[in-house]
Amino acid sequence: MNTFSQIYEKIEQYSTIIFHRHTSPDPDALGSQAGLARSLRLQFPEKRILCAGENDEGDLEWINQMDQVKSSDYQGALVITTDTANTARIANKLYSQGDFLIKIDHHPDVEPYADLSYVDDEAPAASQIVADFIIEKHLPLTKEVAYPLYAGIVGDTGRFMYPETSKHTFFVAAKLAQTGININEIARNISDVTFAQAKLQAEVLEHMKVDPSGAAYAILTQEKLSKLGVDSEEASCTVSTPGRIKDILAWNVFVEKSDGTFRVHYRSKGPIINGLAAKHNGGGHALASGANAKNLVEVEQIFAELVQVTKEYQKSHE
Ligand code: AMP
Repeated sequence: MNTFSQIYEKIEQYSTIIFHRHTSPDPDALGSQAGLARSLRLQFPEKRILCAGENDEGDLEWINQMDQVKSSDYQGALVITTDTANTARIANKLYSQGDFLIKIDHHPDVEPYADLSYVDDEAPAASQIVADFIIEKHLPLTKEVAYPLYAGIVGDTGRFMYPETSKHTFFVAAKLAQTGININEIARNISDVTFAQAKLQAEVLEHMKVDPSGAAYAILTQEKLSKLGVDSEEASCTVSTPGRIKDILAWNVFVEKSDGTFRVHYRSKGPIINGLAAKHNGGGHALASGANAKNLVEVEQIFAELVQVTKEYQKSHE
């Protein structure tokens, strides 16, 4: 792994820096991207600093909005990805046209694709790593910098609940809060749902299937989504819902896409599930991963594998 100083040296060398993050962005993808871009804009007003995506921010536009980028912007540019483990998931493929590539991430380093990398898979959020970078390098930490970073940390720690949350996370969160950001507004923006989304959560609770091992799954078909007027991105609000039940240890939420395939969400309170996701064109963290399923046959297979891993986990913890 490279150091913050090596990354900072590269940043100093380039006059154009373009930030990328993963597709279907969550608060941490957008927050880590925006936080570093905004801080560097303040530190280096003479540099051209852009945030690239694919017009895919959905209802997370309150965290950051993308800049328009074109192929010519990438000539001689430094490209920095945040929160993105593999090239297939980098939003906007123009990233590959830059001069030098840096990866800042907190997923297991399954594809070391960059020229320089800072990857800490024990960090609960890429936004925490970015905040550490800003603090260590004494870069500007204003309200506009802290706001997206705090959103990223709240998002990826499940409001400071998931196991990677540490005392250091609270130290960083306190530093960000000291800038005067409205932490209540951020927490509300992340946790509030529309009435239609709440009904979809109820649908998950009512119709999910629970195996005696503690594995559970719910399928959200296009028919259900359109009945409630919720799109597949907005359906992400249901991903944590099964885990609120005490006896559920690991679960899948399958969201049907308009082409009939399924986006697969894996979540767990103990059984390791990123190896399972990797078998289905996916990946992610030990306890939170994503994948894809071609059809209902693959959906059934994915859940059978989850039951197996959950049973093994139960056995080893008897
Ligand atoms: P999600 O269920 O989409 O919220 O994703 C949970 C975690 O898995 C996040 O850290 C994602 O970056 C990661 N992830 C989701 N989908 C994929 C995928 N197809 N390939 C690799 N990682 C993924």
